[in-house]
Amino acid sequence: MNNAWTQEYTRILLLIAGGLLIGLMTGYWVVAVLLPCSAYIGWTLVQLRAFERWIRRGAKAESAPNANGIWALIVQHVYRSQKRDTQHKNRLKQLLRRFESTISALPYATITLNEQQEIVWVNSAAAATLGVNKYIDEGQRIDNLVRKPELQNVINSADASTSIQMVSPVDNNIVLMVTCVTFGDNQKLITAKDISQILAVQKLRKAFISNASHELRTPLTVISGYLEMMSTDSQLPKGMGVLVDNAHEQSLRMVSILDDLLSLSKLVEKEALYSKDSGEPVDMIAIIDKLLIDHSQTGDHSQTGDSYTLESSLNAPIQIKGVETELYSLCENLISNAIKYSPPGSVVKIDWTVNAQGWAGLQVIDCGEGIAEEEIPRLTERFYRVNTVRDREVSGTGLGLSIVKHILENHGGYLDIQSELGRGSTFTAYFPVYRLL
Ligand code: ADP
Repeated sequence: MNNAWTQEYTRILLLIAGGLLIGLMTGYWVVAVLLPCSAYIGWTLVQLRAFERWIRRGAKAESAPNANGIWALIVQHVYRSQKRDTQHKNRLKQLLRRFESTISALPYATITLNEQQEIVWVNSAAAATLGVNKYIDEGQRIDNLVRKPELQNVINSADASTSIQMVSPVDNNIVLMVTCVTFGDNQKLITAKDISQILAVQKLRKAFISNASHELRTPLTVISGYLEMMSTDSQLPKGMGVLVDNAHEQSLRMVSILDDLLSLSKLVEKEALYSKDSGEPVDMIAIIDKLLIDHSQTGDHSQTGDSYTLESSLNAPIQIKGVETELYSLCENLISNAIKYSPPGSVVKIDWTVNAQGWAGLQVIDCGEGIAEEEIPRLTERFYRVNTVRDREVSGTGLGLSIVKHILENHGGYLDIQSELGRGSTFTAYFPVYRLL
């Protein structure tokens, strides 16, 4: 048994023994019972008072009451649990301080909002880019401080994490990438990163590609023209014919790379997608018919060329609100790829489909070599070509699908690629409902 309890029982036993002794000696049994009971209650009250005063003053070790028996044990328990609590609190405080100093050191503006969109916490970087100040603005509603509809949209977005680009409310030259993450009970964590320099470098790179391609195209066309003339010259020394032909072929390939690069930079320059109302009605059937004629001898909907069959199941009129030259280039790229990457004698089908969201898609289906699953996400990267023997033999720039992707993005659509090695591929260009007429 615990020592304190032994002490306490001994004390009670001694009091009972004292009472019995008084009763036997005096014969006053009432006094004999009351006296030890009152002594015990009185002593307990003194201990209780000391204990209450100690707790009230913060239960510090140095001012612990000089208790004994069961009261010493209670004081000990309270003191230990108090010590544990203090240690725990200190650890948490330290952790919080470390967390706060880490977040404060972040170069990005960081703000946390509560459910009412009031600022709970903000780091010092937020002052320079969002104009929100630590300590001063905490507790204020964010929309009272940053009056930007884009920011409000991203905060109100139902997605758990959304990002937008917006001009800084503090400085018009700063472009911010703002990300809003929802956590806990609809609380928000907003980070804003200054991406002005990245955008400037991107702009410079685009301008460089566009200018370089433009400047290189003219001299290269001239060289290519001369090489063509030379290859047909009967006075060309023996053995030189093959070399000139080869040089001519390579110069034509470079011209076609420059042409693709120029088309791509024009598309990228437009940057944002066209507004929903922009664009002219484009007759997709007419485009497909023209391409069928270009790729074969006659203009029927089902054509058999020298080494492939082109079939179109498009009968009803299909009109899309968009830019005709771009939509033509999109169809041309998809159809010529299907032909290029299919073995002689195979069939290429052109079809129209509608997905679950009602988006319409132009499908180009081939039974060619197909594409490995891991290659599919990379196909729309610039200059990416699948490294197969056939790809090395087939002429191409690796820019066609990148052009297709940009055209679709400009029109608010997307490219879907389904393929299986050895079985063929289906490329579907999806257009949003508002583009259909
Ligand atoms: P390229 O000028 O090389 O055709 P693209 O950007 O149009 O450039 O295509 C990128 C790569 O995607 C091609 O090199 C080819 O490997 C692959 N690809 C495109 N279309 C098909 C297809 N219909 N079937 C198989 N592979 C394809």
